Amino acid sequence: MMIDEQGKIISINEAFTQITGYSPYEILGRSPKFFKVKKHYTSFYRNLVYEVLKYGYWHGHIWLCKKNGVQQQYCLVVTSIEGSSGQKYYISTFQDSSHCSEQENADSNSTNRNNEKITYFHLQKAMAEEQFELHYQPLMHITDGKIIGLETLIRWNHPTKGSISPNIFIPIAEKTGLIIPIGERVLKQSFEAYQVLQTKGSKNLKLMINVSVKQLEHKDFSQFVANLVKEYAFDTKNIEFEITESIFLNPSKNVLRNINQLRQLGIQLSLDDFGTGYSAFNYLKRLPFNTLKIDREFIRDVKINSTNSILVEMMITMGKNLGLNVIAEGVETSEQIDFLRENQCEVVQGYYYSKPLPINDLIDFIDNIAV
Ligand code: C2E
Ligand code: CA
Ligand code: CA
Repeated sequence: MMIDEQGKIISINEAFTQITGYSPYEILGRSPKFFKVKKHYTSFYRNLVYEVLKYGYWHGHIWLCKKNGVQQQYCLVVTSIEGSSGQKYYISTFQDSSHCSEQENADSNSTNRNNEKITYFHLQKAMAEEQFELHYQPLMHITDGKIIGLETLIRWNHPTKGSISPNIFIPIAEKTGLIIPIGERVLKQSFEAYQVLQTKGSKNLKLMINVSVKQLEHKDFSQFVANLVKEYAFDTKNIEFEITESIFLNPSKNVLRNINQLRQLGIQLSLDDFGTGYSAFNYLKRLPFNTLKIDREFIRDVKINSTNSILVEMMITMGKNLGLNVIAEGVETSEQIDFLRENQCEVVQGYYYSKPLPINDLIDFIDNIAV
């Protein structure tokens, strides 16, 4: 559901109608007050509005009354975003509370299961036996189809279990502290690969590396990077660290100091998975980002989901208004490319152009587009 600055509902999606039973013509133009229930005190709503206006974000459980009169509890997330001429919009998404807690339980169960399976020792062994490998996904310019950079993505090739997703082992590496040595190796190997590309004649590519907030919390992180930069003597303006929105949750002194020192080194910062977490407009201005990466979740159904297409349009406008580069992730189809072109998002990455590739395949890929 999308609400304008005057507090009118201006857009709802099909899921909304399915969940609440209300059709667009019953809802559009109304105030969200329409959904008030006696279960909540007025102060509950007042506080919600206050937080959204002040912080640009609210999430929590809320009771709503469906069209059939049944009251039900939902998980609600409200985020404020800014349109091209400075007007505010409020996006609220909600999910069945039971779904929500089922999902939370499922998530924690699977994390527990993975925690049982993958331990500190497995990860340490994987490092010692060099089972980690880096792949590189090209970042492409859609107007001329040229490569403008690459993102480093780690792979774990387990000898018996096969390939294990970083979505599974990175959280465990973060929990056990092993993200520090793993992250250092990722940085070093990415620099090595980048040097190989330079000697092959690919100059001025952007090198984007995922950096965990846990790495930024480590007091020696920026010093490690400074040493690496000195050793490789790259132009740091081409190096960009991707950080997720969790950075906005109470960044510690170490995090802020590291970010400062990285900026002094000339390293750029990119906000990864934009739109999935705490990316309210107000938060965005707090830290010195250069790039926004719009999450795949929004790009995936941009052609069929009108709320997502409005959201993507606004994220692009908002990013550009803030002077940021905007990159769309997970682009798979020519329809998505068309949509992004129409909305002036020129840089993309996704299977449409290429999956993440081992370094030699990346070199072939670059040779092929250069021909
Ligand atoms: P991410 O940074 O959002 O990376 C993009 C993910 O989307 C990658 O998944 C990539 O393979 C996948 N992807 C790219 N294009 C497409 C597409 O068109 N369609 C689909 N379906 N997927 C696409 P991957 O490699 O499994 O990585 C998952 C996450 O693990 C990354 O998400 C990142 O958060 C984390 N990660 C990966 N490498 C590192 C690393 O070296 N350090 C840290 N801290 N995190 C890493
Ligand atoms: Ca990333
Ligand atoms: Ca991402």
